[in-house]
Amino acid sequence: MQIKDILQLSPESQSVIVKGWVRTKRGQANIVFINLNDGSTIKNIQAVVEDGKIDEETLKKISTGACIAVSGTLVASAGSGQAVEVLAQSIEIYGTADETFPMQPKKHSLEFLREKAHLRFRTNTFGAIFRIRHALAFAVHKYYNDNGFFYLHTPIITASDAEGAGEMFRVSSFEPNAAPKNEDGSVDFSQDFFGRETSLTVSGQLEGELGAMALSKIYTFGPTFRAENSNTTRHLAEFWMIEPEVAFYDLEDNMNLAESFVKYVIQYALDNCKDDLEFLQNRLLEEEKSKPQNERSELTLLEKLKFVVENDFERLTYTEAIDILLKSKPAQKKQFQYEVGWGIDLQSEHERYLVEKHFKKPVILTNYPKDIKAFYMKQDEVSDATPGATVRAMDVLFPGIGEIIGGSQREDNYEKLMTRINEVGIDPENLWWYLDTRKFGSAPHSGFGLGFERLVLFVTGMGNIRDVIPFPRTPKNAEF
Ligand code: ATP
Ligand code: MG
Ligand code: MG
Ligand code: MG
Repeated sequence: MQIKDILQLSPESQSVIVKGWVRTKRGQANIVFINLNDGSTIKNIQAVVEDGKIDEETLKKISTGACIAVSGTLVASAGSGQAVEVLAQSIEIYGTADETFPMQPKKHSLEFLREKAHLRFRTNTFGAIFRIRHALAFAVHKYYNDNGFFYLHTPIITASDAEGAGEMFRVSSFEPNAAPKNEDGSVDFSQDFFGRETSLTVSGQLEGELGAMALSKIYTFGPTFRAENSNTTRHLAEFWMIEPEVAFYDLEDNMNLAESFVKYVIQYALDNCKDDLEFLQNRLLEEEKSKPQNERSELTLLEKLKFVVENDFERLTYTEAIDILLKSKPAQKKQFQYEVGWGIDLQSEHERYLVEKHFKKPVILTNYPKDIKAFYMKQDEVSDATPGATVRAMDVLFPGIGEIIGGSQREDNYEKLMTRINEVGIDPENLWWYLDTRKFGSAPHSGFGLGFERLVLFVTGMGNIRDVIPFPRTPKNAEF
């Protein structure tokens, strides 16, 4: 039985076996208290060893980090904080741990824990984060299943660069020395994958569109890879993306879907991860004590999550947002590092200004300039209201993070799509299969990509994306 279930039992002197890792051992003259955790909950269960019940040799071998099984009777706990504890009758040691075990019971910095990433699972903080991550992943599948979407697995190895941003990791099937070479001696990547050039996917969208053009409502939820050499707190080289793609949805439907979906999964965490969220909230409050008053956040973590669920997201166009940013200067103590003007790709400082300072709520920005967005986005009717051509794009921006979702209505007109593909310099030969959807029964459709780790960042209140994925892949991390 897991500790989370044992803690719910009534203490009618029943026999139990508790298995877990020792968090602390405290000894007094004739009584020893051992706190055990098995990861099923943030809560520990206390095992009480009365004088003489367990032999000295065994007791001596038990210390923080050891894995043990305690057999005994469940009794009401005299101490506060827990209802029950285990009176030990026998203890089996599965594995000891000596004093070099790094996760000793004291406050560790996140930097230290990142260096010991293989053992950080054994801390309260990372236990809480990964249980919440699990709950959110489960809620994602539940939301889409309950709303008539089919989970479509898109390929990880692919020949198409959906974003056209050139951030792909190449896949190679050759032994290093046997790779075919160009005339100048460099490796010829064009034959890497059994004679073809392929990479790890940056997005499942284009393949997802094929599914939506038949099953109507699909979503993908898989790993994506981007060779970004940027050491930010928001980017990983390997991250998980959720990408719904829906036939007959326009941009407005797409925004409604994004907002309802994000609110649902956050509410799911509020309903199912109470203990873990409260633990992380207290951790943050503790951390904030060292900050000056004006830098502390106005809302607690739970209040912040409830606020997002209970309030409408602000919706406005990119053009309106640029106006706000241009007028923001007096309100904005320090200038933006990147200059603002119609046509720029918004930087995270701009996004965060809109969300955190101006609207103080999540924001959906739409109708971005065509030139800064991907080729597949549906073009707006040309109008005098904007300085240049725009597309039916949307980005969802969140406090503390910036962009968490990027999406659009897709260009469903074959000729317009072809013109755009030629404009951006993609070889249409590579996308013949994609173009076929526009030739045979094309339909209006929309979709978006949510970076799963950015969602987990928001819900856990953590500050660095490396801390919300079990095995971060960054320019410095690939060992395990
Ligand atoms: P950003 O502007 O933050 O670099 P993007 O516009 O390049 O993001 P998209 O191509 O729109 O990203 O991908 C959809 C979503 O995937 C983003 O909104 C974000 O949540 C997430 N995402 C993108 N790149 C990364 C990354 N390197 N690590 C983690 N999540 C990412
Ligand atoms: Mg990017
Ligand atoms: Mg972006
Ligand atoms: Mg984007």
